[in-house]
Amino acid sequence: MSNSILIVGAGLSGAVIGRELAEAGHRVRIIDSRAHIGGNCYTERDAKTGVLVHVYGPHIFHTDDQDVWVYVNRFARFRPFKNRVKTTAQGAVYALPINLHTINQYYGKTMRPAEAQAFLESQADTSITDPQSFEDQALRFVGRDLYEAFFKGYTEKQWGCEARELPASILKRLPVRFNYDDNYFFHKFQGMPENGYTPLIAAILEHPGISVELDTPFSPAMAEGVDHIFWSGALDGYFDFSNGRLGYRTLDFERFHDTGDYQGCAVMNYGDRDVPYTRITEHKHFSPWESHADTVCYREFSRAAEPGDVPYYPIRLLEERALLADYVELAQHSKGVTFVGRLGTYRYLDMDVTIREALDTAAAFLRLGSEMPAFGVDPLTGAKQL
Ligand SMILES: Cc1cc2nc3c(=O)[nH]c(=O)nc-3n(C[C@H](O)[C@H](O)[C@H](O)COP(=O)(O)OP(=O)(O)OC[C@H]3O[C@@H](n4cnc5c(N)ncnc54)[C@H](O)[C@@H]3O)c2cc1C
Repeated sequence: MSNSILIVGAGLSGAVIGRELAEAGHRVRIIDSRAHIGGNCYTERDAKTGVLVHVYGPHIFHTDDQDVWVYVNRFARFRPFKNRVKTTAQGAVYALPINLHTINQYYGKTMRPAEAQAFLESQADTSITDPQSFEDQALRFVGRDLYEAFFKGYTEKQWGCEARELPASILKRLPVRFNYDDNYFFHKFQGMPENGYTPLIAAILEHPGISVELDTPFSPAMAEGVDHIFWSGALDGYFDFSNGRLGYRTLDFERFHDTGDYQGCAVMNYGDRDVPYTRITEHKHFSPWESHADTVCYREFSRAAEPGDVPYYPIRLLEERALLADYVELAQHSKGVTFVGRLGTYRYLDMDVTIREALDTAAAFLRLGSEMPAFGVDPLTGAKQL
């Protein structure tokens, strides 16, 4: 039987769920309050330079999930792309993630892997046996020098607080490689859609069973006569922020133009606390197969999100987790709505995880229909519910 489905949000979550349900014969209406599809993955050409710009910050596709890789390649041609990030810290430029080159350059040495490992162990603060904070954890792993050059300033700018106030869980694994691999991601499949993410998402939405309305914020009247809603907007927004606002960090991008090549790489971090921005991204380097005479860059500043700002990174510290638990309970008592995606589940999700969860959510709806739960993944624990 064909159901009438309302999807709030035309980002990756909404597009993938919509496509799967439309292919199964449902009628799908997708609305988005923004003037464009694609959510935070939206890309467009810069009017001045013709460079493809990642409007809400740089997006690199990387995954180990073969099904997801096959899925995205069905809708767009992907070009190989490896993210090689650099950082400017204490007056020099280094490669990230910290690798053998970074360590040898920082200490002016020529160590081989085992020597570097032994050396870093001698730098680590072994008096810290039970690290509680991000600072403790970093000191325990790499010692004070590398912590101060590469972690402290950047992290404090990103989170807007002292590194010693952040939980140790932010730095789970040893963030260092004892070889010369400077590929930022470990995943088997890495690449960029040749013409950006907007055409990719447009192709996913291109189905006779899907209608898309832009500049259209959700209003409760839209729920009338609808069999099910998939909500990829903010979880607290669905409840009109009745219990308060879940905390987010937002980003301000200062866009500027130059001629030629501004910085020689796509992403340059700035580790020093006295530089107010966290990084500069130069967008033409995300499409190295293109050629442009001029260039466009973003200086990226991080701050606490206020009402009306784009919510980027969920904060998920103790206070937010308690509020999140309240909203999860409210959601579980709501009928006919499933909360999806990064905002609907208040989690940071890479694009491949977003797509995987959207595919699983759509498949579950095709099995369960009106028995569909409020969440496919528990927002508090990340555990799969379907
Ligand atoms: C700075 C940054 C960089 C990132 N870089 C990467 C990367 O390199 N690689 C990677 O894999 N992932 C990256 N991500 C993650 C990626 O952006 C997400 O995986 C993806 O955007 C999630 O898609 P979504 O559809 O769940 O959410 P969104 O893209 O946020 O889409 C939600 C949509 O819902 C709409 N909406 C919200 N409320 C309403 C409402 N009330 N009414 C109507 N419409 C509404 C919004 O306008 C939005 O378009 C990055 C994220 C950020 C913040």
